Amino acid sequence: MQEQKTNPEKISALRVDRARLWNSLMSMAEIGATPRGGCNRQALTDEDKTGRDLFVEWGRALGCSVVIDEVGNIFLRRAGRNPSLDPVLIGSHLDTQPTGGRFDGVYGVLAGLEVLRTLNDHGLTTARSVEVACWTNEEGCRFAPAMLGSGVVAGTYDLDYAYSRTDKSGRRFDDELDRIGYRGSAPARPRAFRAMFEAHIEQGPILEQTATTIGAVTGIQGAYWFDVTLEGASCHAGPTPMESRRDPWRAACPIIEGVFALAGREAPWGRATIGDVKASPGSRNTVPERLVIAVDLRHPEQAVLEAMVAEFRELVSRSAQTHRIDSRIDKIWHMPPTRFDAELVERVVRCAADLGLKRAKIVSGAGHDSLHTAQFAPTAMIFVPCSGGLSHNEAEAATPADLGAGADVLLHAVLGVADDPDPVAKELR
Ligand SMILES: [Zn+2]
Repeated sequence: MQEQKTNPEKISALRVDRARLWNSLMSMAEIGATPRGGCNRQALTDEDKTGRDLFVEWGRALGCSVVIDEVGNIFLRRAGRNPSLDPVLIGSHLDTQPTGGRFDGVYGVLAGLEVLRTLNDHGLTTARSVEVACWTNEEGCRFAPAMLGSGVVAGTYDLDYAYSRTDKSGRRFDDELDRIGYRGSAPARPRAFRAMFEAHIEQGPILEQTATTIGAVTGIQGAYWFDVTLEGASCHAGPTPMESRRDPWRAACPIIEGVFALAGREAPWGRATIGDVKASPGSRNTVPERLVIAVDLRHPEQAVLEAMVAEFRELVSRSAQTHRIDSRIDKIWHMPPTRFDAELVERVVRCAADLGLKRAKIVSGAGHDSLHTAQFAPTAMIFVPCSGGLSHNEAEAATPADLGAGADVLLHAVLGVADDPDPVAKELR
């Protein structure tokens, strides 16, 4: 590759090729295309293999080396001038939900590829190598849990645990990985990276509603899942006077109201969801003996989340006591909030400002591979609007302009760290 001396004006004028990015997204969308305009490219299926093959082919055409690790994560590497410096990583996922869209995950991978293509167009060699990752099985719809490939690298999951996951028809993850030819030899362990960036559609409505092009993601919400069990006594719905009943619903009503109020007090980031209620024995003309209520509480700040949980526990015991109901709370799952790297988040804000784009800091309500990479690398995410905040849906949509703007921010955020602190890079910039 030819290296050119470039002045700072020329660097700041660099833009990705929006049409090329869009065309690549549409080419990838043909693989596993669904009749209603979405994608079904679930992890380790034939469609996933075809999508991976195309990504690798595109990378090789740019002169990248290709590394595949034991869990099937793919890394395209565009070599920098100084191999001793930690590389910069860009990544997301190519797998989709069964009735998924054309942008969730795919955008982050192909925006990364577009950054490499843009550097190639201009013959620029960065001080640090730049890598683009395609993480395996982010969606978790075929093999649970989600974000498995990045989770193994981060050490959240053992490799053998990942291999042993099975899909609905009993096919094992490792067999399927072998079948599509993507079990690599590189260890699925953390490496040192200067920075990791993930561009993604927001999957929520905030950017669109506020006509904001770029979301600089400060972190990912933490979550708690609880089962609340309320035990009373079952009895006949007709003859039993109201005052002599021990009906668990009497305690459940203030608990449900209170849980929503809890989230309301922590607006705009507090979240409370009652996703399921099971009544036993579950008969129309019998006061239930037992209710099990599934509660999901979320907030991006650990301290606030813990305060919400404490208040929730108090609420359950108070309501149960008032209505003479036995109560129990079981913690089912906890995901601590992820805070992205402050310097990288500010860098994203600054790059968007330099590009004249309307930007805002935002919190991610959904999990992403960045949740895991933040465990071993300074990480930040770039959100762009999606139509109606819709995702995990065949109608998922984003505009070429917004997708291009996000890729421009990604390009400049990457350039900023890929050339720092190399003195030659300073001159380049
Ligand atoms: Zn995604």
